[in-house]
Amino acid sequence: MRHSPSDLKPVDRHLADILATVRPLAPLELDLERALGAVLAEDVTAPVDLPPFANSAMDGYAVVAADLAGAPVTLPVTEDVAAGDSVPRAIGPGLAARIMTGAPLPAGADAVVPVEYTDGGTAQVVIHKQVEPGAAIRRAGEDVRVGDVVLPAGTRIGAAQIGMLAGVGRRRVTVRPVPRVAVISTGTELAEPGTPLGYGQIWESNSFMLAAAVREAGGEAFRAGAVTDDPRVFMETLDAQLVRADAVITSGGVSMGAYEPVKEGLSPLGTVRFEKVAMQPGMPQGFGVVGDDQIPIFTLPGNPVSSYVSFVLFVRPALRQMQGLPASLPGTVRAVCSSRLRSPQGRRSYLRAVLTGDTVTPARGQGSHQLAALAAADALIVIPEDVTEIPEGTTVEVIRL
Ligand code: AMP
Ligand code: MG
Repeated sequence: MRHSPSDLKPVDRHLADILATVRPLAPLELDLERALGAVLAEDVTAPVDLPPFANSAMDGYAVVAADLAGAPVTLPVTEDVAAGDSVPRAIGPGLAARIMTGAPLPAGADAVVPVEYTDGGTAQVVIHKQVEPGAAIRRAGEDVRVGDVVLPAGTRIGAAQIGMLAGVGRRRVTVRPVPRVAVISTGTELAEPGTPLGYGQIWESNSFMLAAAVREAGGEAFRAGAVTDDPRVFMETLDAQLVRADAVITSGGVSMGAYEPVKEGLSPLGTVRFEKVAMQPGMPQGFGVVGDDQIPIFTLPGNPVSSYVSFVLFVRPALRQMQGLPASLPGTVRAVCSSRLRSPQGRRSYLRAVLTGDTVTPARGQGSHQLAALAAADALIVIPEDVTEIPEGTTVEVIRL
């Protein structure tokens, strides 16, 4: 099919329109145990120094380092200091206190001798080795100073960040929540994986793939499964999903044929635009808002490769923006293309490929229905709109998947 370039909307303009509409989710306060995967909407500062007090880094003996000159030496042990000991202690010169890891350093001590350097005595201790002042002591504030920003706004909260938040005593944090994304596939020909295929049917793959892509992008996905090509059924399903969704992704039903339930169901609303974008795969695209809350809806084409590439180019940046992150496009690298390629005039091509070092090898089977090449690929070769032929050995731009 030929398209005059004026029919087609540039890829970059389609993305710009999407990003001009999609808003970051409103911040809310979450309990620490529910914050995994969310993005901080506040700078988190330390209310105290960490560690809050000087303490021992080892099990051993708190001493005055100068007393160990000429080791071995024998010192009387005046006390036992355990982690959690709430009574401040002190030692003087010529004395030692038995101390455990994490226990507060007694006043007057300036080093801890590890138990391995001693005879382990409890009334008195023989110390075999000298240590420097400061040895095996964790100084107050050596990790974090009171008032330090330990996690800036815009940080995605992973396990280590949960640890940091708890470590500065936070139980609740203000975050942009994980976007909840409903995924609806359309197609009367679609059979649920795990059920037998009837005549004319294929197994439904897009809702699974797109839900997984949402999760990889930091969102929470609800798969509504596949609906038939009846616009009423589609609209009912959409309605039911809207109550719990921050965004909706549909696949299929937006091309030029008959039985296009997404286009037929949404067009009358007037809030979703269906357009031809100057790309291959993925030319038929739709985007807009639905429902009282003006939820963004991405209506992606049904061919599996088209829907995946559309997700990477349009939905992922939008999901990042919803999380308050920069809507950065997938980064590109440059590589030498190992074979000759063709690309339609006036459309930007995204060809499935394998990147090895500086060489990129196009996959066999570039049809937009050919999942096998997509599943084997780890990169997309980007061929600009005005280029129709790439001789072997040309340096090309590549998106890593
Ligand atoms: P459509 O965009 O609905 O015209 O679909 C284009 C092509 O993609 C058709 O061959 C469909 O059978 C196929 N297709 C649509 N939706 C899915 C899906 N969810 N899983 C697998 N293939 C699909
Ligand atoms: Mg269809």
